[in-house]
Amino acid sequence: MTTRITAVPRAIPAESVEVPFADCYISAEAQMAALRVLRSGWVTTGKEVAGFEAEFAEYVGAEHAVAVSSCTQGIELALRSFELPTGSLVLTSTMTFCGAVQAIAHAGLHPVLVDVDPETGMPTPATVRDAVRAFGQPAAMTVVHWAGDPADVPALAEAAGLTLDHVVVDAAHAIGTYSGSTPIGSECGATCFSFYATKNLPLGEGGMVTTDDAERAGWLRQARLHGMTADAWRRYLPGGSWRYNVAAAGLKANMTDIQAAMGRAQLRHLPAWQYRRAQIAARYDDLLAAQPGIGLPHRPESATGTHAWHLYPIRLATGIERDEVIAELARRGIGTSVHFIPVHQLTYFGRIASIPPGGMPGADTLFDQLLSVPIYPRLTDGQIDAVCAALADVMHRRFSRKEAE
Ligand SMILES: *Cc1c(COP(=O)(O)O)cnc(C)c1O
Repeated sequence: MTTRITAVPRAIPAESVEVPFADCYISAEAQMAALRVLRSGWVTTGKEVAGFEAEFAEYVGAEHAVAVSSCTQGIELALRSFELPTGSLVLTSTMTFCGAVQAIAHAGLHPVLVDVDPETGMPTPATVRDAVRAFGQPAAMTVVHWAGDPADVPALAEAAGLTLDHVVVDAAHAIGTYSGSTPIGSECGATCFSFYATKNLPLGEGGMVTTDDAERAGWLRQARLHGMTADAWRRYLPGGSWRYNVAAAGLKANMTDIQAAMGRAQLRHLPAWQYRRAQIAARYDDLLAAQPGIGLPHRPESATGTHAWHLYPIRLATGIERDEVIAELARRGIGTSVHFIPVHQLTYFGRIASIPPGGMPGADTLFDQLLSVPIYPRLTDGQIDAVCAALADVMHRRFSRKEAE
């Protein structure tokens, strides 16, 4: 078989363009906002955090938003807000970031890992039912919109025998994801976002928990700062009281005003950044569609929702050595990554988490195929073309060698 590569522009030599895997863009406005806060005399949780919370809640269409130090801490706090008995079962996808499962363990709960559909990278009602059949009724569940692709949360919750108020959404990839025409953020008990350096709204570090439940929001607001009934900012306001009580266990997981001020400035850029991410995904789709050996990421039907394109995870055909492709791309100046090593393959979780008796065939199959290529708003069309040309070149050599063997 000869490999004809028609979709990839040949004019750009792959070697001429450096393409890092990730990019943390802190806009000029965000830099100035940080400086303004640094000079203001108040740098930790205060009025910038309150402002960011209000603006973020509005952006995702939720009643309340509580800013936290990370998405991981947000997930732990959200699970703690359910006040479940220690050791209660919490379902989670095995195809996720380890931190999201650490949060379950740190909340004193027991993670039950759920296999995924290799097509979408996410659990299905059937894999959820397998886990429930094996280990019993869970008390809660976390759902990740993997790569930014909308998961069918109501169907997964129903399969788990849970109401949506006992579902925590891991929205680390899902700023900009829509379920139908509704932005992710208000559907479930709590939705947790990440502002980590590589995420769609980068601040370096930080997170946000959104909910429509006023009582939960109030609980989270105290629990993120030692469980204190009044935070420092309010205590130091004129007329503020020095008195406070601690009524429940809390974490130190508040956000600084420096991050929040940056967040407010970054949020204004977000619609344009999301637009660019969709453009990049479409260009990759066009250039890679005809490429032998490469499968495109799953895309939602338009009625299902909108993809946030946090990641663009391509699938390498069976028999293609992913590590060899990664090394060949790196040699051509192109950074890639893999999202994720399935949680059940990590020693600690293999030991502490429950894994259904049938194992995780969907995740194991998918894992070997996964390769995330660069996607971020400042990626240029030239860089996208360079990535695709390099992939075509690597695959072509690989295929011709296979033939010779
Ligand atoms: C990045 C990420 C997290 C953790 O976010 P932090 O803000 O770094 O804690 C959680 N879940 C998923 C799926 C992620 O990709």
